[in-house]
Amino acid sequence: YFIDPNAIEPGRITVRGDDVHHIKNVLRMTVGDHILCCDGQGKDYYTELVSITDKEILCRILSTFPSKGEPRVRVTVASSLPKGDKLEWVLQKATELGADSFLPFMSSRSVVRLDGKKSAKKRVRWQRIVKEAAEQSHRGYVPQVGNVLTWKGLLEKFPSYDQVLFAYEREGSSLVEVLQKTRSQRLLVVVGPEGGFTESEVEEAVAQGAVPVQLGPRILRAETAPLALLSCILFSFGE
Ligand code: SAM
Repeated sequence: YFIDPNAIEPGRITVRGDDVHHIKNVLRMTVGDHILCCDGQGKDYYTELVSITDKEILCRILSTFPSKGEPRVRVTVASSLPKGDKLEWVLQKATELGADSFLPFMSSRSVVRLDGKKSAKKRVRWQRIVKEAAEQSHRGYVPQVGNVLTWKGLLEKFPSYDQVLFAYEREGSSLVEVLQKTRSQRLLVVVGPEGGFTESEVEEAVAQGAVPVQLGPRILRAETAPLALLSCILFSFGE
């Protein structure tokens, strides 16, 4: 469980909010049972439940150790909004694999368009999905889902990263070759929508320093490509 750092005191942790319902009513845990808590800043706490009410659960800290679930390489996944709830699936699976953060965006061929109000609502749901995935896969922090960006907005983010890899099925360097050379610690991977990127988007991305990469001769679905790319990067970094 990710715990608000303010709820962590010497020797004890107080769990509040939705997690109380989950521990008490869903998992039906009782006094003496053990749970793993994380401060979301890289520290884990192995604890024993000491008292349980409907509002809060008091836990005694048995041991403290650094979270093991964080890769050293930080990969941000930028996914052009796919149709339906496929982005939710990407967020969940990429969190399990070890993504650092997410930047959803809309490019010319994205079928899904979200205005500010809708995207703010979606973002709350996306962040909850990521939190649950991070808890279940014992991540050391909860990856953040950014605001839905326009294509231009995404291009402006490129300089914040050591390297930007741009998944392009038509042409590009082999991913294996690019990864053999890279020592970047902060990577952004960019994947297009069902209809792919337009030629001008490809030109703009390259002009902003992105490296086009191919993921093999098969065309992957918009929701498969980010996971394949992320898996290859983490594997090549030994993570
Ligand atoms: N409309 C395109 C076509 O039919 O040629 C395919 C787009 S694909 C479904 C969606 C996105 O996944 C692409 O924009 C690209 O970013 C990524 N992608 C899929 N297969 C890929 C591959 N083999 N290499 C690199 N990127 C790929």
